[in-house]
Amino acid sequence: MVEPIAAPAAAERLRWRVVESAPEQQQLFPTPPERIVGTGEFRGLEFLPVHARRIINEVPKTSPVPFRHTINAYRGCSHACTYCFARPTHDYLGLDSDVDFDRVIVVKVNAVERLRAELAPKRWNGDPIAMGTNTDPYQRAEGKYHLTQGIIDVLSAARNPFSILTKGTLILRDLDALAEAARRTTVETSFSIGTVDEEVWKLTEPGTPHPMQRVEAVARLNDAGVPCSVLIGPILPGLSDRPEQLDAVVGACVDAGARSIAPIMLHLRPGVKEHYLGWLQGVRPDLVADHEERYRRAYASSKQRDALTTTVRDLIAKHRLRVRRGGSTRAMPRLSERFERPR
Ligand code: SF4
Repeated sequence: MVEPIAAPAAAERLRWRVVESAPEQQQLFPTPPERIVGTGEFRGLEFLPVHARRIINEVPKTSPVPFRHTINAYRGCSHACTYCFARPTHDYLGLDSDVDFDRVIVVKVNAVERLRAELAPKRWNGDPIAMGTNTDPYQRAEGKYHLTQGIIDVLSAARNPFSILTKGTLILRDLDALAEAARRTTVETSFSIGTVDEEVWKLTEPGTPHPMQRVEAVARLNDAGVPCSVLIGPILPGLSDRPEQLDAVVGACVDAGARSIAPIMLHLRPGVKEHYLGWLQGVRPDLVADHEERYRRAYASSKQRDALTTTVRDLIAKHRLRVRRGGSTRAMPRLSERFERPR
């Protein structure tokens, strides 16, 4: 059971307010405005429509991420990955970072209008904008609200560079719009595909499209002229890091013509760690002690991460060679420089 939202103290901390307090928008959501229960293909979800005061977020200068501005039109994510680093962002508003994160989705219904206003030439210098940094822009809610679709159209019209990281094959709905945007400005898309092992996928990412559907989407985006890379991650110790598992996912991404391929090992920040280890205790208790040892800090040791990087580089080289020898008709990927290397 979810407690009612809009406790004043919580609402004041946010850059958005509930739609209930915005009469001009209530016609969009007749009654009740504060909670919409999903039906049909959205069954099992609830939506909380809010008004964002700003939609472009500025990343703190101290952050090591390779982008300075982001847009997240949703909060929470029905892809429900067990390891999701964004879970603690749902601890506002009386929602929790476990079940609520997966099924109660905050929807910034004015995202497209806000973006149009914030891109006004006197207010904006044309910096690239990243999407998919704190929630998936092509999760199930996007099928209902079309906010990412509208955002792409606005960015494309403004010729503003942007990037999208997703696990959602719903991105193919917007293939033509993305191809048009890529002709006008710099567009980078990336799929997150941590494994193609079906058992591990079902266990760890229960709300996501099948990994091989994602692989196919990578190929279709690149074929359409929309550059698409793959982030192989997170690679989960004891679950998806066996040599044959890594070989399978790298081979599939090479065959799909991924522009770049980069691995990332699981990291467990406070809040996420408790969720993940609690889940692990239920499904693979034999791995918990190993994780306690590995994740005394948020990141596995640099030795472990370097070993993974080397393994994946070698696999990319092996599969590139296979492709060169005629094992695939698709374009070969280049090695990525974008390995995450926190110390
Ligand atoms: S797709 Fe991304 S944002 Fe969504 S649950 Fe998975 S890791 Fe989190």
